[in-house]
Amino acid sequence: TLSVAAILAESATRHPDKVALVLGEQRTTYRELWDQTRAYAGALRARGIGPGDTVAVLLPNVPDFARAYYGVLALGATVVPVHALLKAREIEYVLRDSGARAILVGAPMLAEGGKAAAAAGVDALTLLVPDEQADAVPFPRLEDEAAAAPPIDTYVPVAPGATATVLYTSGTTGEPKGAMGSHLALVEQVNVMCLDTLPMSSADVILGCLPFFHTFGQTCALNASFRVGATVVLLPRFDGDAALQLMNAHGVTIMMGVPTMHLGLVQAAAKNPERPPLRYGVSGGAALPLAALEAFSEAFGVPIHEGYGLTETSPVASFNHIGVPIRPGTVGQPIWGVDVEIADPLVRDRTELLPHGELGEIVIRGHNLFQGYLNRPEATAEAVVDGWFRSGDLGTKDDDGYVTILDRTKDMIIRNGYNVYPREVEEVLVRHPAIHMAAVFGVPDDTHGQEIHAAVVLKDGAEPVTGDELVAWVKQDVAAYKYPRVIRVLDELPLGPSGKILKRELVARLERSAG
Ligand code: ATP
Repeated sequence: TLSVAAILAESATRHPDKVALVLGEQRTTYRELWDQTRAYAGALRARGIGPGDTVAVLLPNVPDFARAYYGVLALGATVVPVHALLKAREIEYVLRDSGARAILVGAPMLAEGGKAAAAAGVDALTLLVPDEQADAVPFPRLEDEAAAAPPIDTYVPVAPGATATVLYTSGTTGEPKGAMGSHLALVEQVNVMCLDTLPMSSADVILGCLPFFHTFGQTCALNASFRVGATVVLLPRFDGDAALQLMNAHGVTIMMGVPTMHLGLVQAAAKNPERPPLRYGVSGGAALPLAALEAFSEAFGVPIHEGYGLTETSPVASFNHIGVPIRPGTVGQPIWGVDVEIADPLVRDRTELLPHGELGEIVIRGHNLFQGYLNRPEATAEAVVDGWFRSGDLGTKDDDGYVTILDRTKDMIIRNGYNVYPREVEEVLVRHPAIHMAAVFGVPDDTHGQEIHAAVVLKDGAEPVTGDELVAWVKQDVAAYKYPRVIRVLDELPLGPSGKILKRELVARLERSAG
């Protein structure tokens, strides 16, 4: 038996007085955090929640997220962290699909979360509601129930295969599906990370800017940091200037983020000469443009280690390991005990591996795999074939085991029968001195099947430039079948929690505005 909750419980024993979380002026030690977690778990136990039950958590990156998350897990129940920006209709879907018995909602999300709970007929308990507003809120506060119930003594150990989390993939590729993660997969992933992939210690200070409801932030920023007794400095809403200030003030040693965060820091560093004692940056969730890696290393004097993974692989599958030469442009080598290979993307009923060097679909096998999609045996059977998880990403693996991602299968554009990988064209676009971010996508076209379009956001204070000028510029550097015929300059691009540009959303917005 084991439990993900041991991650916090053990650090409360070994590093009781170490600061686990910093939020503004508020500091919470490991002992305090575990005591408060046991109190919250006591309240939930008094409501009859235990092994086999499911509880949703809807909170920003605040200490209560950790208390709620580990509190549910400590009871042997399953936790469903919900994307903090979802609307009531979307939250209701998650509550119904996951069969949650209750939802723990933070005050900032109460309007949407409360509506969803009422619609789905699920109990809601609130957090972060101040005393003076408690009477006005139509749901009980978890802290009040915790004050009235005895805390749990310790966590309930469960079978290794018991489901710890259900994480809904953010839906850049369709209807959200709940990926089930076992206690064993999550604990093993964290142990491998801390021992091997990304060694950390209790002396480290991590910026907690990746959302904890998403697999990247949950495993790498929260669970891995707590596993070693490190300090996490919370930044509930990312902003480059605020991030750099916090990093300086608290001596942040590891900056884990998605590419847009690293880019935000580079922009902030141009205005603020002070530097934190960083050991390295870590990037994942979306492709890190080479230009961003170079600019970050120049500004902060440390490299960025890029890794790759998915919600279904808990998430890390490959990584440019600490202590091993980084190969920029690759997502590194498979992590310890995990196989990452390339398979024929057209063969769907079995997994046919291809020799190294060939381009195909990235497939993953190992202790980090999810247990399947909740209530969706067909989707699971399509995703896991012969024991290999089919990632839907196209890439290659070289003889040294380094994996390179070309793009997502679904994002590939076919123009006049030629395959165009948007990521390659995006890499060229972000080399333009005025461009901050770029998205390349296909639109239906009667003549060519698909036509290549792009949308870009310019850097703060950049010289104005038109879409046509950018088309003329990029045309010089990429083959005629690949360059975008239309480039729109926008104020912003829609981003998912893992920093990915939501291309379907972008295309829908552009269609609406053309409309
Ligand atoms: P959905 O699965 O519904 O599309 P999502 O994209 O947010 O939602 P995640 O599990 O967060 O789901 O993202 C996994 C995907 O992120 C991978 O399949 C891959 O396309 C992309 N990704 C992750 N790391 C990298 C990286 N270093 N470089 C390029 N792409 C990456």
